Amino acid sequence: MRTTVGIIGAGPAGLLLARLLHNAGIDSVVLESRDRAYVERRQRAGILEQGTVDVLREAGAGERMDREGLRHDGIELRFARRRHRVDFPALTGGRSVMVYAQTEVCKDLIALQLKEGGPLLFETEALAVEGAETDRPRVRFRRGGAEEGAEDVLECDYVVGCDGFWGVARSAVPDGRTFERTYPFGWLGILADVAPSHDELVYARHDRGFALLSMRSPSVSRLYLQVPADTDADSWSDEQIWDELERRFETDDDWTLRRGPITQKSVTPMRSYVHEPMRHGRLFLAGDAAHIVPPTGAKGLNLAVGDVVTLARALAHRTATGSDDLLDAYSATCLRRVWQAERFSYDMTTLLHSAPGATPFEDRLQLARLDRIASSRAAETDLAEAYTGFPIG
Ligand SMILES: Cc1cc2nc3c(=O)[nH]c(=O)nc-3n(C[C@H](O)[C@H](O)[C@H](O)COP(=O)(O)OP(=O)(O)OC[C@H]3O[C@@H](n4cnc5c(N)ncnc54)[C@H](O)[C@@H]3O)c2cc1C
Repeated sequence: MRTTVGIIGAGPAGLLLARLLHNAGIDSVVLESRDRAYVERRQRAGILEQGTVDVLREAGAGERMDREGLRHDGIELRFARRRHRVDFPALTGGRSVMVYAQTEVCKDLIALQLKEGGPLLFETEALAVEGAETDRPRVRFRRGGAEEGAEDVLECDYVVGCDGFWGVARSAVPDGRTFERTYPFGWLGILADVAPSHDELVYARHDRGFALLSMRSPSVSRLYLQVPADTDADSWSDEQIWDELERRFETDDDWTLRRGPITQKSVTPMRSYVHEPMRHGRLFLAGDAAHIVPPTGAKGLNLAVGDVVTLARALAHRTATGSDDLLDAYSATCLRRVWQAERFSYDMTTLLHSAPGATPFEDRLQLARLDRIASSRAAETDLAEAYTGFPIG
């Protein structure tokens, strides 16, 4: 098999890259180790920054998002039984975010790719990237399903590792440097068949730990509780989860939490991670393959989108002009935005979670930082600008 761009992974990064390249007249092949149903059902991110929304529209993948997505003009911060709304458009010159689940973004991009784009091979696992420093890099892969076991090679002009944190592409970048922090807590996330109790996301800081109220649709709520990192989701009964959520969202007014049947429950670990550089020869890394953020800032999916937009532009520029300038700048261009997102995600995490062993002094500082955001337009604007997204490129 031969193609211009070999893409490993059909998460948001790989799928969007394939779409952008297709629109630019550049052919690609996408290899995905899982089957289609698994990729379309994997519950993950749900907040699209303004820039991500614009990119999906321009790529021709925004039709259902515009119909079914929920535009949000703010978030609520909850602390010390107080409520404070951050008004995004007022603070950022009109920017907002869209609540539209990653599962739906993937479904839309898969449907487009299968209808109009190049090959998208499910149940096809990349085993290794070879020859990245030559002008003929290759991906060794194995087909699953009916042809299980047969090994094959995809020859490419460029290979892009969009294969997430656990993929194989990153290991083909020698002499990389990694920067990492793990947190001693995770998020117990639930999906519940109940209308959201608030029309915008609620980020709650409580002495018992962080809680987040989010949603997937007008009838499906997505809620999270800070729990110790090694928690087994099944050790929490549904009733315990609702009781704990109720405590952490408590306010001085008559706000109430709606309860409903819990349909899914899992624990997500929290990690900050960056791999530098994001390129080796003709191999490029994009999305979670190169960096991870804790989900508190809702940045993971949006960073992946920024990477592939930057890369697709660089590849289109190479095709049009023969110049490698933008490809050479790819890693540095992306890393600048990545580190801003890392900083913001870390700040949001430390602002809102109670760290095991935190002293009363540190607790008071947390509350003072929240109070500062609630009382200073400058501090609030900084949060609103970061939340709605850093510029791409
Ligand atoms: C459990 C969880 C919850 C999350 N929640 C949030 C959230 O609430 N908010 C937020 O902003 N972000 C969240 N994130 C982060 C966000 O989902 C990711 O940043 C986003 O999915 C990155 O997209 P990606 O395409 O780079 O990687 P991925 O979505 O991980 O896609 C990588 C793809 O590569 C495939 N693959 C891996 N190895 C191979 C191989 N060897 N061969 C072929 N294919 C391979 C995988 O099957 C997968 O489909 C969450 C992540 C996780 C893991």
